Amino acid sequence: MTEDRCEAARPDDPVRCVGPHDAVTIIDARNHAVNGCEPHAARLLAALDDALLIPGSVADAPLRVRRTSEALRPFPWLTHIQHQHVQHHHA
Ligand SMILES: [Zn+2]
Repeated sequence: MTEDRCEAARPDDPVRCVGPHDAVTIIDARNHAVNGCEPHAARLLAALDDALLIPGSVADAPLRVRRTSEALRPFPWLTHIQHQHVQHHHA
């Protein structure tokens, strides 16, 4: 086992861990607990619909993780930009 990343790191995510691997614990909707560093926890959280975030070894990590994940979270239903066609009337 050469895995040197936290549990929250997705296999297809090349980003390395930052900080303790158990900075936070994420509990997903199926009650599966995953320890993660802050960046990976944020990315995992952003991908989950319904997850609990509880502190691990870093007391204020959940706050940062939550904030980061909200910045990451794609809102496809909100990116619906209404294109207004501005008509240039040439007199
Ligand atoms: Zn990590």
